[in-house]
Amino acid sequence: MLTLRGRAPRRGKALSDLGILRNSALLIRDGVIAAVGARSKVETLPEARAAEKVDVGGRVVLPGFVDSHTHLIHAASRAEEYELKIAGASYEEIARKGGGILNSVKKLRAATSEALKKRAGAALREFAAYGTTTLEAKSGYGLDVASELKILRLQRELNLEQPIEIVSTFLGAHVLPAEYRGKAGGVQQYVALLTERLIPEVAAGKLAEFCDVFCDRGAFSRKDSKVILEAGKKNGLFPRIHAEQLTRTGATQLAVQLGAASCDHLEQVSKADVRALAKSNTVATLLPGCDFHLGLKQYAPARALIDAGAIVALATDYNPGTSPTLSMPMILSLACTQLQLRMTPAEAIVAATINAAYSLRRDRQIGSLEAGKQADIAVFDVEDYREIPYYFGVNKCWMTLKKGQPIFQKATRE
Ligand SMILES: [Zn+2]
Repeated sequence: MLTLRGRAPRRGKALSDLGILRNSALLIRDGVIAAVGARSKVETLPEARAAEKVDVGGRVVLPGFVDSHTHLIHAASRAEEYELKIAGASYEEIARKGGGILNSVKKLRAATSEALKKRAGAALREFAAYGTTTLEAKSGYGLDVASELKILRLQRELNLEQPIEIVSTFLGAHVLPAEYRGKAGGVQQYVALLTERLIPEVAAGKLAEFCDVFCDRGAFSRKDSKVILEAGKKNGLFPRIHAEQLTRTGATQLAVQLGAASCDHLEQVSKADVRALAKSNTVATLLPGCDFHLGLKQYAPARALIDAGAIVALATDYNPGTSPTLSMPMILSLACTQLQLRMTPAEAIVAATINAAYSLRRDRQIGSLEAGKQADIAVFDVEDYREIPYYFGVNKCWMTLKKGQPIFQKATRE
């Protein structure tokens, strides 16, 4: 059992501390962990005698994954662009021709709420099948008042109607919508729509906890990002930011200045950016699924970030354009094997659980297996935790529990 007990968030050497227990047991009461420890001890607790017993047969038990960066709600895949990319078109070239995020915006605006909800619901069941028990979800494929609010309302409904916990982020500043492009003052008009209308409405309706901006070439400048994130902050939405993915814009320094909860992507960070993150409480969230899917060779410098003392997290970035995966174990595999990343299996697991929980401001409730925390648990059909990233492209998740209730169980042949 990987308890991950102890201090959160984890930096440097502490990122390798899994708090492993052998021959152990967990007692769950009303969805909360009541006791955890040696099996001989937990099983003799008076309360344990009457409890329903689940024997996981010596498999590896760990906290459910916390996927702290997803674009859950979208209308369709972008498989047509996948082929263009294989043929040599870059992500930015496709975006300039109206593909990319704007392609997803067109599809989302045309989709019904029912269709969007059905697609997201199916995805959530799949997330559970790979051991994820909490995820962050961003708006950002609507980019007008009605569509952005529609996405956030759907996230709220889904959060109430199915077991995986959804933490909402407002990403109205994903890219500039088509109707504002090529227009004098278009950017300023859209930024005003976000800061004066949408952010106050999202905050008043408690539709999101966080406000995010895609700060990059072809998206929003550092200056506009600052205005948007500060408006979010003023309205009680904590900042997160898409930073230094395609180009270095200085978004990381902005994130640190604003005390952002998380700074995500980071493929193009400078040494000074790494130092700034290391000195801050802003989580460096790495999304290697993106670089893998786009066939890029530049991953984020995980080793340098960890060695400098930054709080590193891992997430899928589940989205139809650059990272169509819901598998956190696959992300762990990439984090362990790809150049520049080279995280150890233990570091990758910590990054995908307790540190991700910290970036969502939920490290007191989830992310480790300790008394008083939610019984959010993943069980993997492996003998050694290192086999979780070692196997790739196959699903070794055997059982997932949310607040003590099974939400996934692998079908067995017998
Ligand atoms: Zn993203």
